[in-house]
Amino acid sequence: MKGSYILLLELNESQDIGVGRLGIWLFLKGFYAYVGSALNGIEARVSRHFRRKKKYHWHIDYLLDRADIYEVVLIPIEERLECTLARALKEELTCIRRFGSSDCRCSGHLFYAAERNELNTQVVDALTNLAVTYSPHLAPAPRLPPLLPES
Ligand SMILES: [Zn+2]
Repeated sequence: MKGSYILLLELNESQDIGVGRLGIWLFLKGFYAYVGSALNGIEARVSRHFRRKKKYHWHIDYLLDRADIYEVVLIPIEERLECTLARALKEELTCIRRFGSSDCRCSGHLFYAAERNELNTQVVDALTNLAVTYSPHLAPAPRLPPLLPES
């Protein structure tokens, strides 16, 4: 299934994290949304994000070493949506500049909010405004309240 996805992350403590060639950055405690895409299959890409042992390739690999995924949103779609989503989220959340956007012209593909509800609300609003079909997909652990009410 080709498409885009959003990883919703929690970082328990503010800390310095080395992000490959970007250098060492301070990441604040709080909540992050990372927007990505995989033309060869979003399920395979997302399951890779959950694997602990791997060769680090993307900026997000370094952050996932320290942060926990609490929600995954899968967006099956033919066209490349991730930059459109990134632009929408940038209007409402703090953008972590240059993170995840080496291959495009976006300011960044990682967004921050101090509060989980704030992050979740902005992500749902962006998806709703773009009128795309998406499925919330709960991370295995730790289990936190779902982003969307179960239907
Ligand atoms: Zn982009």
